[in-house]
This record gives sequence, C-alpha cells and structure tokens, in this order.
Amino acid sequence: MFSTRLDRARAAMTESGVDVLLLSVGSDLPYFCGYEAMPLERITMLVVPRDGDATLVIPELEVPRVVERPDVFSIHGWGETDDPIAVIAGLAGSASNAAVGDHMWAGFLVDLTAALSSTGFRRASTITGPIRSVKEVDEIERLRSAGAAVDRIAERLQGGEIELVGRTEAEVSAELSRQILDEGHDRVNFAIVAAGENASSPHHHAGSRVIRTGEGVLCDFGGTMVGTDGVGYCSDITRCVWVGDKPDREFLEAYAVLHEAQAASVRASVVGTPAQDIDRVGREKIAAAGFGSYFVHRTGHGIGVEAHEDPYIVEGNEHQLVAGNAFSIEPGIYVPGRWGMRLEDIVVATVDGPDPLNTVDHHLAVIEP
Ligand code: ZN
Ligand code: ZN
Ligand code: ZN
Repeated sequence: MFSTRLDRARAAMTESGVDVLLLSVGSDLPYFCGYEAMPLERITMLVVPRDGDATLVIPELEVPRVVERPDVFSIHGWGETDDPIAVIAGLAGSASNAAVGDHMWAGFLVDLTAALSSTGFRRASTITGPIRSVKEVDEIERLRSAGAAVDRIAERLQGGEIELVGRTEAEVSAELSRQILDEGHDRVNFAIVAAGENASSPHHHAGSRVIRTGEGVLCDFGGTMVGTDGVGYCSDITRCVWVGDKPDREFLEAYAVLHEAQAASVRASVVGTPAQDIDRVGREKIAAAGFGSYFVHRTGHGIGVEAHEDPYIVEGNEHQLVAGNAFSIEPGIYVPGRWGMRLEDIVVATVDGPDPLNTVDHHLAVIEP
C-alpha cells in the first residue's frame, strides 16, 4: 500500500518537475510511510527522490518507534552531534525543485534553503493533496467506521442521554471527548459545545457558560482512529439540539431552511460536479430565506488522515468531484449575539452517487429536561 502511494507521488513529481519530496511532521508522513513524527525541535524527514529510494532521516532516539518497512524506506538515524540538515541536503542531491511538507517547521525550511541554495521550493501538498483526496476502498471503510462511532454519540445526544441542562459547555465537551475515545478513536480533535448566543461563533471554545432550558445547543465533534498500520482517519459531525419543551419559532423556521440546504448540497455531491456548485446549491436556499449574510463560511472541507484537507467545498473551487473524494457538507446560520446552528455530515462521492457516512437523524432534536 505505502509503495503504491509513493509510486503515485513519484508519478506526480515527474509530471510537475519535482526532483525530491521532503515530508516531515503532519499527515503526509503517516499516509506515505505509516510513521507519524513527533513535533519536536529535532528534525524527522522522509526524503523521497523522484528517481531513487526513500530514506527516513530521524533522531536516533526515535528510531525504536518506527515500524520498519524496508521495501518502502530505509532508516538513517542521526545522533545528537550530527548535522541532520546536511544529511537531508546530501540525500536531496542536486535537486532543482523540492516539494516540502506544508506543516514542517519554518525554522527547518530556513536551514534547508540555506543548505540547498540553488533548489526551488514548493509546498508538498501540490503533490500529495490530489493523491490523498482520492480515497481507496479501505480508506472509505475506515472513514465510515469513524463516522459510525460519532453517529452513536450524536444519537445519545439527541436521545437526551447526555445531560445538558445545568452543566457548563466545558463539562459537556469533556463528556463528548470521553465518548469519542470510548467509541474507538485514538485522539479527540475537537468537541465544540456552544449554547444559545455562543453558537453564533462557528468555532466557539466551550467554556463556563451553563446550559439552560429554552435554547439551542450546537455540538461539533470528531477524532482520529488510528489503524494497525499507523495511519489514522478522522470523524467530524455537527448536530444541534433544543433543550426545553417548545423550540423558539424563529429557531425552528431557520432550522428547517438549514436542513433543506444541507440535504440539497449532499444530493448535489455527484461525481463530475464542481465543488463550488455544491456550495452554491445550499447557499442559495439559505439566501432565499433571508439568512444569506449569516452563512459566513464555506460549505465544507475534505477529510481523511487530516480533519481538513482537499477538496474544499467553496466558491472558486472548480475541482470536479471524482469517485473517492470524501468531504464535509456543513452549512450554518449564525445570528451574532443571538443564536447559531450548523448541520454536518461527511459524504463520499461514488459512481453510484453521494454516500453519506453520517446517517443519524438530521431533524432538530427537542430534549425535554
Ligand atoms: Zn469548522
Ligand atoms: Zn465539524
Ligand atoms: Zn467539518
């Protein structure tokens, strides 16, 4: 699998005139070699020459953590008094063009540009993004498992099994985080809980605000499930609930618009459709209801080994969906200082049409305290 992926990377490098691919911290590294680097001041780098074998340059003390895959890469451990930048520059040889991991520390890039003074640098995502955005069958199944796990949590939330009234957002966020781990994820990526007016901030940080009856609560949560091969896949879901016996009429009406807009964008997620058209379909419905200026972000983002990756479902992205693209559809309506709502599923584009990985109820759940 890793060899196949590196073959794809080398083909893309040939096409775009890149001589060496340099991957450090971030999700490219586990995707291409099954090892995830710690974000340390000691550099780790997978050096992938277009026409040569890959080498993992890694601090000697981290070597025991590496699952050896001699058919994919060899290991070069560097000691405390070695110069790893010189080692990497040596392996990169006389590369005219290098593609370097987007999340590599800027300090290392400064050192590399000095050591490879005649080399041009570009982002590795120009090579890796298009490859990662087309999921293999096994990757889709792993995204589906992660999606099913957060669906079970959302179902408990909607069923009133997660205590809300009288608790702070932070307490509910902590409970969601525990459940994300209990449901088989290896890490929690986020657990946004936003009550009442706080939900008008799309990425509100759950805090000391106590949840009361008679308000909406937005919960957006997800994590990463790491497989035995060292590669992790993400989940990401948003559901809103109303606490109290009778939802506010304005809230209910807006939710009906959001529900329809989200479903329309999911239905539009068909192979061949430009990403921006999927954004437009839902946005037009929200705008037609008079909430256009309250939908302040793109419709969605790709998802895979990283929570946010290609393809982005946004105006201006003309990328035509291909089978295997996996992404979120998450329109929202946010009235500053008053209330907010978002509805989010992960969807895979397939030759048979859109395949939603989150299927838990999409209606506004009303939880009577
Ligand atoms: Zn977000
Ligand atoms: Zn989300
Ligand atoms: Zn999302």
